[in-house]
Amino acid sequence: MDRRGLLKALLAVPLAGTSWLAHAQKKGMAMVEELQQNWKTFLAAGTATPSADEPLKLAKEEWRKRLSPAAFHVMREEGTERAGTSPLDAEKRAGVFVCKGCDLPLFTSAMKFDSGTGWPSFFTTIPGVFTTKTDYYLIYPRTEYRCKRCDGHHGHIFKDGPPPTGLRYCNNGVALKFIAKEGKA
Ligand SMILES: [Zn+2]
Repeated sequence: MDRRGLLKALLAVPLAGTSWLAHAQKKGMAMVEELQQNWKTFLAAGTATPSADEPLKLAKEEWRKRLSPAAFHVMREEGTERAGTSPLDAEKRAGVFVCKGCDLPLFTSAMKFDSGTGWPSFFTTIPGVFTTKTDYYLIYPRTEYRCKRCDGHHGHIFKDGPPPTGLRYCNNGVALKFIAKEGKA
């Protein structure tokens, strides 16, 4: 190979790499969109679920009665459960994760990944189910997310998730309820 040919070959490598990556990224995002659109295929037959557009507003004392002390602390006082305490972190069956406060479907099992953090982690969500806000409780800014229907706190979004979204929805397991697609949860 002459010098010119070598230069051409060297230039071609990163370019080919970039376009392959862009292609994989695009394909990955299309798969994520499909997961978001087809989330109902993970619901157990005959399961009725509420919509994010039917708000559930209760007084603090009502929430205290409705939730366990641990769920109340996380969802209504923005607490964080201890890592590794939720059995849902290891849940691997097909199904849907709904809000403990109001039953709104939030994630499917296909959106979950093992982050190794000890909290149930998801790389995307069922569309339109969360509101977000920046908080500074740990000095540095974090994006907090809440259930759109009942305004219950669920967790924080970090940018160290897997491709293609690169996001990690770090969710308190105590704020979730799992409905297995087949059989009892
Ligand atoms: Zn909710």
